[in-house]
This record gives sequence, structure tokens and C-alpha cells, in this order.
Amino acid sequence: MKIKSIESFILTDRLKEAFYFSQWEYSERRICIVKITSDTGHVGWGEGYGPAGVIKAGVEFLTPFVVGQNPLLTETIWSTMYRRTLDFARRGILVSAISAIDVALWDLKGKILEQPVHQLLGGKKRDTIVPYATGLYFTNNGNMSKLLPKEARQYVALGYKAMKMKVGLSLEEDLAYVRLVREAIGPDIKLMIDANHAYNLREAVQLARAVEPYNIFWFEEPLSPEYYGQYAELRAKTTIPIAGGECEYLRFGFQTLLQAGSVDFIQPDICATGGLTEAKRIATLASVYGVEVVPHTWGTGIAIAAAMHFVSNLDTLPGRLRMPVNYMEYDRTENGLREALTTTDMVVKNGEIRITDSPGLGFELHEEVLHQYNQTESVCISDINNFTLAES
Ligand code: MG
Repeated sequence: MKIKSIESFILTDRLKEAFYFSQWEYSERRICIVKITSDTGHVGWGEGYGPAGVIKAGVEFLTPFVVGQNPLLTETIWSTMYRRTLDFARRGILVSAISAIDVALWDLKGKILEQPVHQLLGGKKRDTIVPYATGLYFTNNGNMSKLLPKEARQYVALGYKAMKMKVGLSLEEDLAYVRLVREAIGPDIKLMIDANHAYNLREAVQLARAVEPYNIFWFEEPLSPEYYGQYAELRAKTTIPIAGGECEYLRFGFQTLLQAGSVDFIQPDICATGGLTEAKRIATLASVYGVEVVPHTWGTGIAIAAAMHFVSNLDTLPGRLRMPVNYMEYDRTENGLREALTTTDMVVKNGEIRITDSPGLGFELHEEVLHQYNQTESVCISDINNFTLAES
């Protein structure tokens, strides 16, 4: 059995309404999707997190080392890809390219063996997980003091038990919006805040202490991901748990984060950090440090499905009779690709998602939709130029 071909596509969805966070504005979503076909006629799908055009170039660089190999040998293929990139890109976008291929290979392996990916990862340790709604971004199309509480109430009405809002505009505005959102959702819903590394240590301590009365479940990326020691300092100065790691790559990046005692939660993005193969190693490493794992996701149904299978396989440490909830990120911002490209039976019901036992990652990908959004041909030059506006 052999891998016959790897194809990559850049899909673009122009947003009806731009939104922004502490770093830049989104006016479109652009994602690199990978299709791997075996000589048995099976197909697996993956995606990379990050600038789509650069990831596509990385996938094309890696393709000759992967085509012709046995698709069941996910770890062997991962090692080959890692060795071929290590000298040039120990972190960053080539690792996202590895991730996109790796996720597609796990989907393909599941389809070939007619097993769900969670089973291939070693077993499903829970049937349901709790998605937290990621939204509550900023917009110039209305009064945010009204829009943010309204959006937060909509998530409650839809049954979500947890949600995450953006901060990082200014300490005064952040405090005002956090207060309004907490008042809107009541005391029982989990509320996380995410600064996308907008602040220095002094500011982050100020904001953390100011929002402590609002029962914040975690404070995500308060500081630049480079300041591992300052994360640890912040942790010691607030009662709010600290989260981070969506910008970390491979187990080696997470080792630095964990050794420094920087965070209470790590947030590997499976489509950037090295795929499911490496994410499983990162989860094992986190268990050594007793740190919780809640993956970052920002993409299509492929990325979401990969995160669901991963979370269902996570060990819960410590174990106990009444097991704690396992969360995963569930982006609710506008993204036509996420809504239209795939369908799955893993849907939110009463604030929970039941993990599928369908083969592979458990979704149907609609190729006619892929071709509708495909802008691969025209993207080569404009992709980099649009990066600051269009990509994360
Ligand atoms: Mg984040």
C-alpha cells in the first residue's frame, strides 16, 4: 500500500463583516487544505494553521519525501518530514506543513483501517467533550458595549457552558467589557479572556488583578510567547490560571514553556504544532508536569475534528470518580469554510459534543465546496502581502 498523491489547496472566504482583536483585523479567512490519496483509492484530509501560501509551499517541499511511503506508517513518515526540515525550520511554518500532512495521514489511516482516529490514538477515554465558544471579537459596526453582551447571551441560549472573549485593547476597555459580559451571562458560565500577547508584565498583572472578581477561568496569552519567565511571574501574582502555547511548536517548544512553570493550561494547535503524532507526545509531556491540555483550533471542520479525537484520547490527571470536564476550543466567528466544507455528526447538543465512531476523523468533505473556495492559482503573490490582514 502506497501514498499516491498529495494535493494542497488554498481556500479563501471573504467575510461579510470584518472583525479584529488586539493584533490585527480579519477581513477574510484563508486556509491551506491538504488531500492525500492512497493507491487503494482512499482519501485523507488535513489542514495547516498559519499563512496558507507559505504552508502550501512547505507541503510541496515535503511531498517528494512522503509520496510512495506506506500511509499506515504515520510516525515513520513524521520522522522523515522532521529530519528534512530540522536544519531550516525548527519552529514555525514548516512545522505547520508537517502538521497538515500528518493530520491528513491520520484521517487516511482511519479510512483505510475503517477505524475512528481516537481508536488509533489508543482509545476514547470519554464520549463527550465540552466546547467553549470562541467569539466576542471587536467590530467597528456598532456599539461594543451592547454587541458583546448580546453575543455572549446568544452563546448561553445555544447551550454553551463556556466562552472566551478577547481583551487587549486597553486596560480600561478590557475591564469594562469583561464586566458587561460577565453580567450578561450570569455566574455559572465559564469565561476565559485572551489578550493575544498584547501586554507587558506590568499591564498584565494590572488587568489580571482587576478582573479577578469576575471569576475568569483562564487568562490566555497575556504576554509575548517569548517571555517564559514573565509568564511564571504573572502566575504568582494573580489567582487567575494562565493559558498559552498556541504559538509553540513541537514537544521541544512546550518543554520550554513547561519547564519555566509558565502556564496552568497548554494550548497546542494540532494543525501547527506537529500534527496529531506530535500533539500526543506533547500531551504526554504535559502530564509529566501536571498541566492541563486544551487544544487551540482556528480553522475548518478538519481542524476541529482532529482536536475532538485528540481530546477524547487525553488522559485525565488526576483521575477521580467524578471526572472533570475536558474542554476544546470551538471558534464561532464568521467562517464560511468551516460551515460549508465538511459535515459531521459531531455537533453541539446541550453544550456538549459526542465523539463520533465513524472512520478516520469522522467528517464528509464536499469537494465541490472546496473547488468553489479554491484560490490556489491566484494566491502566490498576494498571499504574503495580505498576511497581516488576513491570516493568523
Ligand atoms: Mg488565543
